[in-house]
Amino acid sequence: MKTIGMLGGMSWESTQSYYRAINQGINAALGGFHSARILMYSVDFAEIEALQRQGDWDRMAEILARAAGAVKAGGADFLIICTNTMHKVVPQIQAEIDIPILHIADATAEVLTRDGVARVGLLGTRFTMEQAFYRERLEASGIQVLVPDEEGRALIHDVIYQELCQGVVREESREAYLEVVEAMARRGAEAVVLGCTEIGLLIQSSDTRVPLYDTTEIHAAQAVARAID
Ligand code: GLU
Repeated sequence: MKTIGMLGGMSWESTQSYYRAINQGINAALGGFHSARILMYSVDFAEIEALQRQGDWDRMAEILARAAGAVKAGGADFLIICTNTMHKVVPQIQAEIDIPILHIADATAEVLTRDGVARVGLLGTRFTMEQAFYRERLEASGIQVLVPDEEGRALIHDVIYQELCQGVVREESREAYLEVVEAMARRGAEAVVLGCTEIGLLIQSSDTRVPLYDTTEIHAAQAVARAID
């Protein structure tokens, strides 16, 4: 079994979901007492979150590239970055390490393509919904991407930072998210991508008739498949 390198802590609430899903996946595949070989560097999210607000992506790239170097030096065979947003600095991270990075948007595009989904709604942080770095990875696979309107984007973003990244799950927020999901379906989205690793803490497929693609689950499953390949 290969050793999975993880950059976690963004936020640690979602890194827990990754850790559980990866271990469950390895155990389901190999049985017995098997669990995942993992080397994780978990950052202090306060530092990252402040730099995001300042727009200092170069500094964040430095921090994550150094963390990735430590994970690689420890013996990881490949790396996953446990957040959608911070994939913005994948090129700088990849420049520092010679092990592959499994890109969360590519993993998601692969599953959407397999399922024949051609047009999706994308929920995530403002960075993920409004900038090109994430959307264009999906579009490169021929998938059309819709994002919520301004009011919807503000709601989705604020709930991620003010609630989910701090372990707060509120029924009102679940309902508000589901309304945004429904609105995107009405605009023609065949499915909605939960493009933030905390959103699965708030809404799940059983909450709506609109198909949901949870990037945490997809990314974790790809890491499991790669580890036992
Ligand atoms: N975990 C989130 C994501 O998937 C947001 C927190 C962060 O900025 O990393 O984008």
